[in-house]
Amino acid sequence: MSAEIDLVLETACRAGITAAKICRAVLSETPESLEKGDKSPVTLADYGCQAAILKELAAAFPEHGIIAEEGSEHLRESAGEEGAEKIVRLVNDATGSSADFEQVCAWIDHKGGSVPDEEGAVWTWAIDPIDGTKGFLRRDQYAVAIGLMKDGIPFAGVLVCPNLPIDLDNPDGQRGVLFCAAEGCGATAVPVDGGETRTIKSSGLDNAGEWRVLGSVESAHGDPTLVVSMMEAGGVGGGFVRYDSQVKYGIVASGEAEIYVRPRSRPDYRENIWDHAAGTIVAQEAGAIVTDLDGRPLDFSLGPKLTENRGVLVTASPAVHQKVLEGLRVAEEALVD
Ligand code: AMP
Ligand code: MG
Repeated sequence: MSAEIDLVLETACRAGITAAKICRAVLSETPESLEKGDKSPVTLADYGCQAAILKELAAAFPEHGIIAEEGSEHLRESAGEEGAEKIVRLVNDATGSSADFEQVCAWIDHKGGSVPDEEGAVWTWAIDPIDGTKGFLRRDQYAVAIGLMKDGIPFAGVLVCPNLPIDLDNPDGQRGVLFCAAEGCGATAVPVDGGETRTIKSSGLDNAGEWRVLGSVESAHGDPTLVVSMMEAGGVGGGFVRYDSQVKYGIVASGEAEIYVRPRSRPDYRENIWDHAAGTIVAQEAGAIVTDLDGRPLDFSLGPKLTENRGVLVTASPAVHQKVLEGLRVAEEALVD
């Protein structure tokens, strides 16, 4: 496989950039939300991005398995004639194809083969065509997340963040960052619209008073009260900033924050692998540590959900990790009392 890493990353980056084009095209008008059965929002951009990404992956890696967030069933039910025409136009414009609606739906539903390679490894992609659809609809942060797992362990990942400022200290400047990583190859960031590729590293700040913390915009996705209690318990004093989507992994990987903490939102909630696979490998290859809130590695080998993990914790280094786990224990005990 190592000889194929370049092909994996080139294909995933190309697919991610095409998806970003679709996102921006939808945002150039007023994006409409088509609510799914579980009340979560979805847009034509989510479906269009998945079609474009899976079209690329199916062509390059027909033997790889695919676990992706969307399916065409709800699109068929809810798009109507106008929506069907629109998604066909979006996908064809971005990919240079002349597909019809059936073809677009077939791309969306591609599941791949999950056939072991000659060394016996099974390759499976975990894809969220738009992670943070709520942020996308607010014209805030969102990410196209394309992860590849080898035998259930994140191996390569591309996170395209079309609205992330290239310099977080200059939100009025150019936006759009693509993060990319593969096992043993390190992590990089490059402006989506072209520019210099740079190697990224997680932060080396060792003073807890300066550690910066990231969490979800949606309070329902991870208790912010627990995050603030952990900060107090651990003397973590660099501030708490909330972003939608896996951009949080990219920000920790770039050394712009030390901690991303995502407490389990309800006892029965299990995280989706596509919400974490690409982010995990980007963060790890930049030197960060990714576990759950009990310090256990995330187990991506159990299907679409992280059934055996409780929440997610991403930190810049082992020292930060240990300190945050201790702070969480104190904060959780205090909440129980
Ligand atoms: P974020 O913007 O980091 O909160 O992540 C967005 C992702 O949160 C979405 O793609 C959903 O899959 C996921 N999500 C939806 N509901 C919940 C929940 N109750 N707890 C945790 N994550 C959730
Ligand atoms: Mg998601």
